[in-house]
Formats: sequence, structure tokens, C-alpha cells
Amino acid sequence: MNLRDAIRTIPDYPKPGIMFRDITTLLGDARAFRRAVDELVQPFAGRRIGKVVGIEARGFILGGAVAHQLSAGFVPLRKKGKLPHVTIETEYALEYGVDTIQMHADAVHAGEEVLLVDDLIATGGTAEAAIKLLRQAGAEVVGAGFIIDLPELGGADRLRALGVPISTLVSFEGH
Ligand code: AMP
Repeated sequence: MNLRDAIRTIPDYPKPGIMFRDITTLLGDARAFRRAVDELVQPFAGRRIGKVVGIEARGFILGGAVAHQLSAGFVPLRKKGKLPHVTIETEYALEYGVDTIQMHADAVHAGEEVLLVDDLIATGGTAEAAIKLLRQAGAEVVGAGFIIDLPELGGADRLRALGVPISTLVSFEGH
């Protein structure tokens, strides 16, 4: 069983030139899903992770499973306007314009060790915003885990430059 083979690629989605890496096929394959979660957990097994933080929306599916396995809590980072209680937020640049992610202000506590999880790292803009938000809240980001890395887009290097250890399971060339 090979994780790479469980990921489906849709060319030119959502726009021409993008190779969309679709993990719904991996999630639907019991052995591949289990393997991916086990491999995301492995570098942190035995550590005292307080919270696993997932980025909307695919990071919720993986982050929930990783949190369960690490006996950690789970924290959702959401697009603006979705969380019902008091929030803190960070803006980040998109190719055109800006976007905002939010977290409940009381979701992590100062000094808490947290692990960030998402399905894919491309430019790293989303994950960098998440790390800034978590640090603003006083959390210590002890790692970030992604199933897929697109190394040509430089996101993994960007997170390393922020001092966050990163683990990825499968790399694809190009965008
Ligand atoms: P970035 O902020 O550039 O690292 O983009 C990461 C976010 O965009 C992740 O939440 C991904 O789910 C999504 N994403 C970016 N590029 C792709 C791609 N080629 N295929 C699937 N999802 C992508």
C-alpha cells in the first residue's frame, strides 16, 4: 500500500494550470487513511501534546484523528465568521487579495504545546498565518504535519525558517 497511489490528481482544478491533489480517495481507503494518520502521529508519539490544531476544512478530518491518537484536544482554525465565541484572527495574503483565519481566544493556553495539521502545504501562507495566530495566543508550536508537500512552492522551508519542525508524507512536483 502506497500513500501516493491513494491520492487522486485532478488537472486544471479549480483553474487551469493547477494540479489539484484530492485526498478524498485516500480518506475513503481504510488502510491508506489509517497509515496516513499513523505517520502523522509517529514523530510526536510519547510527547505531551496539549492540542492538535486543524486548518479548515481538510485539516479537521486529519487533525481529529491525530488528536484522538495522541490523546490531545482538538482546535479548529476557521475562516472568518464561523466561530461563535470571542475570536482572535490573522490575515494572510492570497494570490489575489487577502483572507482571514480565526480561532477562539480561549482555545489554547499560554505555554501549551500544540501540533498543526493540514492535508497539504503549498506556499505555506496558510500554515504561517496559523503559526502566528497560535504564537499570539501564547502556544508553543512544536511541529506541523501534512500529508502532501509541494516543495517547489517553498512552504516547508518557510515553516522551517519560522523554527517549526515539519513532517510531510508524500511530495509532488510542480504546483
Ligand atoms: P498554501 O497556503 O499555499 O500552503 O496552501 C495550502 C492550502 O491550500 C491547503 O489548505 C490546501 O488544502 C490547499 N491547496 C493548495 N494547493 C493545492 C493543490 N494543488 N491541491 C489541493 N489543495 C491545495
